[in-house]
Amino acid sequence: MGKLSVLKVAINVPLSRLFDYLPPDDGCRPPPGARVRVPFGKQRQVGLVIAHAADSALPRNRIRRVLDVLDNAPLLREEDLWLLRFASDYYHHPVGEVAAAAIPALLRQGRPINPLLRHVGASDAARVLDIEALAKKAPRQAELLTLLLDAGGNGIDVDSLTEQMPAWRRSFRALAGKGLVTEFEMRADDPEPPPRGAAAAGPKLNADQQAAVIEIRAATGFHANILDGVTGSGKTEVYLHLIGEAIAAGRQVLVLVPEIGLTPQLVTRLRTRLGIEPALLHSGLSDLERLRSWRQARNGDAKLVVGTRSAVFTPMQDAGLIIVDEEHDHSFKQQEGFRYSARDLAIVRAKHLDIPIVLGSATPTLEMLHHCAAGNYSHLSLPRRAGAARPPELRIVDLGKTASAEGLSEPLAAAISEHLADSGQALIYLNRRGFAPTLICSGCGHVAECPRCDSRMTVHAKDRRLRCHHCGNARPLDEHCGECGAAMRPLGEGTQRLEDVLVRRYPDRRVMRIDSDSTQRKGAMGEALQRATRGEADILVGTQMLSKGHHFPKLTLVGIVNADQGLFGTDFRSAERLAQSIIQVAGRAGRESRIGEVIIQTAFPAHPFWQRLIEGGYAGVAQDALEERRLANWPPFSRLALLRSAATRRSDAHAFLDVAAGFVAGLAHGRLRVLGPVDAPMARRAGRYRAQLLLQSTDRRALHEVLRELRPMLEADPAARKVRWSIDVDPVELF
Ligand code: ADP
Ligand code: ZN
Repeated sequence: MGKLSVLKVAINVPLSRLFDYLPPDDGCRPPPGARVRVPFGKQRQVGLVIAHAADSALPRNRIRRVLDVLDNAPLLREEDLWLLRFASDYYHHPVGEVAAAAIPALLRQGRPINPLLRHVGASDAARVLDIEALAKKAPRQAELLTLLLDAGGNGIDVDSLTEQMPAWRRSFRALAGKGLVTEFEMRADDPEPPPRGAAAAGPKLNADQQAAVIEIRAATGFHANILDGVTGSGKTEVYLHLIGEAIAAGRQVLVLVPEIGLTPQLVTRLRTRLGIEPALLHSGLSDLERLRSWRQARNGDAKLVVGTRSAVFTPMQDAGLIIVDEEHDHSFKQQEGFRYSARDLAIVRAKHLDIPIVLGSATPTLEMLHHCAAGNYSHLSLPRRAGAARPPELRIVDLGKTASAEGLSEPLAAAISEHLADSGQALIYLNRRGFAPTLICSGCGHVAECPRCDSRMTVHAKDRRLRCHHCGNARPLDEHCGECGAAMRPLGEGTQRLEDVLVRRYPDRRVMRIDSDSTQRKGAMGEALQRATRGEADILVGTQMLSKGHHFPKLTLVGIVNADQGLFGTDFRSAERLAQSIIQVAGRAGRESRIGEVIIQTAFPAHPFWQRLIEGGYAGVAQDALEERRLANWPPFSRLALLRSAATRRSDAHAFLDVAAGFVAGLAHGRLRVLGPVDAPMARRAGRYRAQLLLQSTDRRALHEVLRELRPMLEADPAARKVRWSIDVDPVELF
């Protein structure tokens, strides 16, 4: 056989190395990118072949053999594997876990890429049956049979049927007894991709949009373009043009959107304007649906792939363009486990594929603006709203000088009345769900705290419970103080309380609350947004959820109830973030012909932030913030990595980081700044003590060299066994 050939296999375990296996006896050589089933300890695991090697550090008799080869052809191609390895190196995260994050659940479990599915269908006898007669005797059986008859010859796969009609099995058995239904297996062979429909015409691009399209088109190969356009400036129109061109040239396009950005509105717009069915990849899909989209992207049938964070890894035959919409959105950063930035990986991927990428936002991150200033990326701006819409006007209300009741100041209340009288719609924004953020004793001032976290419990009035928004812990509302026996009362406002206030104040108006409590049921979010869009509510109350990407034609007033939390934030990103959330929610106002108004309530009207925002807009705030960061040497002027640890005992969490700090000192030779270890800003969460160690450097390479050596040292250290720990490269939250 000549040289011994060893397979380097990635396995979904928290160890940063590949595992060596011998190919199976039958001479089959699974190529890199194929899955194999392997023995692992006493278990079996599905692994991904990353490479072949001539040799192994292990003696031959200790290398185990692959049990099964699951793919004859590689599931992932060279360029896809490259991205996994890059991500694993850059984020210093085990490659097996990276691979697991990149492929759909069913493939991770070892299922075939095009699995055999159980289907059920109506038999020939059912086609001549009198359904109405059946419906009188057995309505559920009739309902099921109608579903199956409508589905035609291929019937329905069992998973989809269970979603449509959870209790179908009983009726099915009854129908089977009468020979009216059958059960069979089918491969979910993808239907022919639907032919391109007629694309609906869009508006003619204005001069700014045209200039952007021309500049993006001008570059050949990789080029990063920041499309900096105020809300409603027509960024999506620019995307549509570029997507249409790429698809016409026979290429595929990947569009990444924030978690909440994949709305029916956007999907409908893509479908009708491009005349094709986008393949969707997001958390609301079933495992099978996700596998289908992934397969269609991989084999090239899906010309347009639209997905959230993990879609950045979707293999594609011939990607010609990547778009990241709402580039500033934090949902692009995975905050647990494998902590990666999908936006940054999208840029890396575009570079590797040598194709253009467009990153759009009304509030680009300072990182992107800094790249533009340095001349690495193009800065394309759309400073005006497209069509007839004009920018909304911002006004500050001084909470110290005006009367306010339960969060609603008189000037804001007056503005609501005015806009509603003029048949407008109002959005009242407060990024705090629940009834009140605090329950306080009217006698001694004692507040209700979470027993498992260093935080207060939020009052939820509807079901009279206290809930911790950090760990989910809940208990009935305390009527009386446990310390002094006096009555407890809610303090401050959440969206539920604001909803009550508005209902009382505007009894003949329709008030609708949209937050994660009101939209828990599947599909509830979409329905609520549709009703809001159709103008079936006069006043919308909600959190961050309402601020993103939506287009409410009648909306003319935005009220920001409490922006002050962000003014004094401890994170160096506080100002950037506050400006982003205000500008994003303000952007919902006046998107059509009527001019919008934005009222910001603050107890600190003299804070320089407000003046800068009102005079200079987001760009002004961004400019100041960049200057501050340059002086303080924060990113993007330096690089960060945050080492976190958590344990049931505080001393364990710290001991681990002390060990880590010692290793870092030995590795860094003064090239890094080390801050900590310190308690995390919320030192106890869900019963665990949390601590952190921040590494900072202006020399990115030095930082990564240290992390590369540090990781295996930490994996092997006994102190690691008592804690949960992680490395977060380019953290967006410093806690
Ligand atoms: P953004 O993505 O920047 O928020 P959109 O592309 O959604 O902006 O455009 C906002 C609105 O303006 C949409 O109703 C869109 O149809 C309209 N619009 C965009 N570009 C033009 C244009 N060139 N002429 C007229 N209307 C336009
Ligand atoms: Zn808690």
